[in-house]
Amino acid sequence: MSAATSHLKTLDYSVVQQCMHCGMCLPTCPTYDKTKLERNSPRGRIALMRAIADDRLEVTKTFGEEMYFCLGCLACQTACPAGVNYAELFEHARAEIEERGVLNSPKRNLIRGFTVGWLFMDLRRLELLGKILRFYQQLGLQALIRRSGVLKLLSKRMQELEAMTPDVQPAFSAELIAPITSAVGDRKYRVGMLTGCAQDLTFSDVNRDTVEVLAANGCEVVSPPEQSCCGSLHAHNGEWMLAQQLARRNIDQFPPERFDAIITNAGGCGSHLKHYAKLLADDPVYLHRAELWDRRVKDIHEWLAEIRFRVPRSAFRVGQRETRNTELGTQTVTYHESCHLSHGQRIVNQPREILRAIPGLKLVELPEASWCCGSAGIYNFTQPEMAGQLLDRKIRHIKSTGVSIVATANPGCLLQLINGAKQHGLKPRIVHPITLLAEAYRAERRE
Ligand code: SF4
Ligand code: SF4
Repeated sequence: MSAATSHLKTLDYSVVQQCMHCGMCLPTCPTYDKTKLERNSPRGRIALMRAIADDRLEVTKTFGEEMYFCLGCLACQTACPAGVNYAELFEHARAEIEERGVLNSPKRNLIRGFTVGWLFMDLRRLELLGKILRFYQQLGLQALIRRSGVLKLLSKRMQELEAMTPDVQPAFSAELIAPITSAVGDRKYRVGMLTGCAQDLTFSDVNRDTVEVLAANGCEVVSPPEQSCCGSLHAHNGEWMLAQQLARRNIDQFPPERFDAIITNAGGCGSHLKHYAKLLADDPVYLHRAELWDRRVKDIHEWLAEIRFRVPRSAFRVGQRETRNTELGTQTVTYHESCHLSHGQRIVNQPREILRAIPGLKLVELPEASWCCGSAGIYNFTQPEMAGQLLDRKIRHIKSTGVSIVATANPGCLLQLINGAKQHGLKPRIVHPITLLAEAYRAERRE
């Protein structure tokens, strides 16, 4: 590949050479914490990237494996006093690895081609797969197969993957949310609502809750039934061109000039959605709109704090939706920060502000709340050992709080914590903060 098409060599050199090797990021890096090896640290990885940009190092399989051992959690970016843009370096490094094909193998190419290149490029395909999985789960076939012991014939890894299969929602977002939802009372804002890909399959109820909360705060909500993936999966896995295609589709579907805000409730998506202008920097047709798009995209917590959301009047009722237990009393909740919400978007206080505002809930701080849970996009599938250790660490901290509810704002984190709680026999309810706010508003209406 020529230098002209090399991602790292063509990246703005001020980004590549910004690291001053101080090492302040090292204690915040989960992979360095685990191995204590410089090459598994942010500083070590940046040095490798710079060596490639400077033509002192070739892109090799070892470099590729190193960059896929990195979680992309961006804790190093928060810690860095020099303002190193690790997110940009990381995405360019992975794009370069994919262009050079140093990790290619028939199995890997097949899996990537099917998922990143086909399934997530048209969400009707993902929905079809979700419907098949839902049918399999609703018929009780999954439970039957699990009980039969036949899964023991599979490899240990396949058994672990099977155990991680999420429960598919009984209805997807398009069945739960009208294309246009009117504001309750006077309309103050017009917002677009992105329903996501994995979020739609596994947490469409959170999307419905988000729309309800927005409407209750004076927003008219536009949510077209057929939407596209935001492209974060593609960008984080080196598929730059596919990520660009999806960005253009989203800008066309949600013209930013027509909305006061374009809302996402998934930390991982938001972190990517706010950088379409960088992604489309060489596209003269879309760049201007992409810049406006970046300013319009808001995480739901960020938006609610900005418009000064209405504090619910009613006391929160214990697990009312799941257990129908209507006992009143203060419940304890802890908050796990999604990496891409806290480190990627610097949204730290707003979710806590929402949780504290719900009557009947008491927020208990989680030790190491911003330490990655191991989900990290598809990291728990590609690096199960490291992901498992991070999950165990997170679950230990959750246990230490003794709470009855754990709130977190990203579908990957929700699934990871639900799986961890199952493995460790923990009982707390694991839920998106916005669901708790929606439930508090609903309780008001029943009074
Ligand atoms: S993104 Fe996370 S895992 Fe990767 S270098 Fe930074 S802190 Fe370490
Ligand atoms: S990335 Fe930032 S914190 Fe880490 S070594 Fe470089 S300058 Fe220091």
